[in-house]
Amino acid sequence: MWTKDCRMWNAALAVLILLTSIYLGGCQSDKLPKASLTSSGTIKSAQPDIVSEEDDNSIPKTQDTQEAPKTESRPEPIAEPVPNQKVEAKPVIPLPEKSPLDTPIHPFYSLDGTPPSAPGLAMRKREFAAEPEKIAYLTFDDGPYPETTPHLLEILREEGVKATFFVLGRQAERYPELLKDEYVQGHGIGNHSYSHDYSSVYHSPETFLAEIKQAEEVIFKVIGIRPRMVRAPGGTQGHFNVNYYNTLDAEDYLVYDWNVSSGDAAAPLVLTEQLVKNIEAQVPGKTRVIILMHDSKSKTTTIEALPLIVHFLKEQGYSFGKITPKVAPILFPGGFNS
Ligand SMILES: [Zn+2]
Repeated sequence: MWTKDCRMWNAALAVLILLTSIYLGGCQSDKLPKASLTSSGTIKSAQPDIVSEEDDNSIPKTQDTQEAPKTESRPEPIAEPVPNQKVEAKPVIPLPEKSPLDTPIHPFYSLDGTPPSAPGLAMRKREFAAEPEKIAYLTFDDGPYPETTPHLLEILREEGVKATFFVLGRQAERYPELLKDEYVQGHGIGNHSYSHDYSSVYHSPETFLAEIKQAEEVIFKVIGIRPRMVRAPGGTQGHFNVNYYNTLDAEDYLVYDWNVSSGDAAAPLVLTEQLVKNIEAQVPGKTRVIILMHDSKSKTTTIEALPLIVHFLKEQGYSFGKITPKVAPILFPGGFNS
């Protein structure tokens, strides 16, 4: 009996243990799917969703912000400056559209950089630097020459003023050391064509440009710069039309005439006193003056007149500047009428 009972009890205990283990195992296996359900499939519990979204987003975001922006920002700074620097000259170069035929003629740059306007003209807007209230730009054309350039440079150094030399390519080729002296002493260097030969320079806008480029190569070889400032031989009056302006502007050149002339080209040799008188007669009433003089071997009275002209301008309260592309050009109106 006891054995029977014992067997029965054993069997009962075994069943109990089995049931208990099944129950417990079932609970555990229930818990896992339940937990996984709540975390992944839970619709009502916002927390996991937010977390998972945040996680989802934060991963891509950090990937975005760490990788994408990095991969974007890394190439950008590297890629941008290079193309931009290359393109920088090009976006400036694309020509403005030619002005319509009814465009009024306004042959002046405004100090805010607005270019002249005229029918068929296509000149870009510029940026000019602020200037003193009264400023004088001394300019010397046609050099360099050993007979005159060193004297002019010496006077300018003694007077402590800067000027601008619109040099001929032909002369710079002959006297590179003088061009170097001008440049090293801090004066402005402009381009006055290669030959100054009107038949070549004014044959067409294209030949004008070719003369400028030819001179530019000489200047570049000697002092390593390519001046953007051009002075037309004899000035633009009677030589330029809108096509010349368009051609030069398209190549990023600025053209400078003058509003005060020493008159030293009116004759082979003009008296010193006359040169000074000419300046004194034209300067009053002008706040900014671009003064025409010549650096040519026959122009000895210009050398004599220079200190007197500088003294006069100083007495009148003028500062002295050299011409750079940040200086607004003064242009004769004639070229905009044709
Ligand atoms: Zn000249």
